[in-house]
Amino acid sequence: MQQLDVLKQFSIHSSELITGVQCPHCGKFAMRRVYGTWRCDKCHEKSKEGHTLALVDYGLLIKPCITNQQLREFLHIASPDVTKKLLTAMKLSYVGETKGRVYDLTELLCKVTGIFQK
Ligand SMILES: [Zn+2]
Repeated sequence: MQQLDVLKQFSIHSSELITGVQCPHCGKFAMRRVYGTWRCDKCHEKSKEGHTLALVDYGLLIKPCITNQQLREFLHIASPDVTKKLLTAMKLSYVGETKGRVYDLTELLCKVTGIFQK
């Protein structure tokens, strides 16, 4: 997959990006993971798929692959078990084992951007 360097194009450094899960209802950052769902402290709405949308942003803006550690930082999740569960549930393909494992976001990006193309 060809990677467009969106950040470079707009002279944005990756440290300037707002990380975390954006609330699909009110647009505020960042939702908190509570009992298997994402909750917004601002409007109190919930979202099951918040992390999927955040991963698509990550894939489009940063790079189309991610490690558990990078996902934890991006989603503001303290527990590596939680992010591992999310990654497993999304059935992403990966290379490597344990800490060095890199998950491929290409399929997810194709699926989501395919929806946008309709
Ligand atoms: Zn909200």
